[in-house]
Amino acid sequence: MRCGVCPRLCVIAEGKLGTCKTRTNVGGKCYTLIYDEVVSVAADPIEKKPLFHFYPGTTVLSIGTLGCNMRCLHCQNWQIAHADAVDDGEQMRKLPAANLPRIAIQNDCAGVAWTYNEPTIWLEYALEGAKACHDNDLYTVFVTNGYITPEALDIIAPHLDAYRVDIKGFRPETYKFLAKVPDVEPIFAAATRAKNVHGCHVEIVTNVIPTVNDDEDTLRSIAAWIARDLGVKTPWHVTRFFPYLELSHISPTPIETLERAIAIGREEGLKFIYIGNVPGHEGENTVCPNCKRVVIRRDGYSLGKIDVREGYCAFCGEDLNIIQSGKNTAKADG
Ligand code: SF4
Repeated sequence: MRCGVCPRLCVIAEGKLGTCKTRTNVGGKCYTLIYDEVVSVAADPIEKKPLFHFYPGTTVLSIGTLGCNMRCLHCQNWQIAHADAVDDGEQMRKLPAANLPRIAIQNDCAGVAWTYNEPTIWLEYALEGAKACHDNDLYTVFVTNGYITPEALDIIAPHLDAYRVDIKGFRPETYKFLAKVPDVEPIFAAATRAKNVHGCHVEIVTNVIPTVNDDEDTLRSIAAWIARDLGVKTPWHVTRFFPYLELSHISPTPIETLERAIAIGREEGLKFIYIGNVPGHEGENTVCPNCKRVVIRRDGYSLGKIDVREGYCAFCGEDLNIIQSGKNTAKADG
């Protein structure tokens, strides 16, 4: 049996698991072991995903489970992402997809995010949950590594409002080293397809790691790809790396490196580049690219006054590619 959910296209023998450790072969059919099994649930600021141009200031019900189709050397959530749905299954608790809207609304959340571990491998549950959210006027978010087949993307993306994808490098060697992924092209293709075919709001995150992906060529290539394939108003978050797990020997990213990434992004035409994991840095603010006024001031996850009206600059009327209540409501399914 071959699984077609992500580009690994695992061939799984009877009773064995795929690379993500969550899908198995029973009688020649692919079964998920994590369908409505949840490990982490929290109400988070949408800025924590990070999504800066998507319903700013709202709270999102964030859920995650076990497993991942990558094996990142510095995974922040390795306890769940590197876990096995069979051996570590006692961590999981049943949470029916139909209950997600009620829990979100009870916790003052405007939507639901599949996050913490890789949502692609949770496809069937995410699909049911996203449909239930849209039936209740809640938005839906994928926080993803982007390693998904076009066929699987075409199943879930019509039910997603935001697609927040990590771009960890530009060269295949970087992804092989960092994430144990054999190819990168499907990641770029899926992000482009999510935006241009399915109309998802897309934001990109690059965790800039010294000596791994902080070279000029990598940063410029990522920025140029965003500008060309996703549009110059697509937010790009360049976040600070801190030593962790198998990359504990690498120093934190110097602030100057992140500021250089911003300069490179601007040279490639990007209008919204943000510094992440540096609370209080002015690179957290949203500045109108036309009138240069600060329209959203941030300090970590705290927001100041939002001078954006239905997605446009309150001072000069520039379109900021910001989705707010009133301009764009959650996608209608169907
Ligand atoms: S989703 Fe899991 S089982 Fe399916 S191809 Fe990807 S890693 Fe393999």
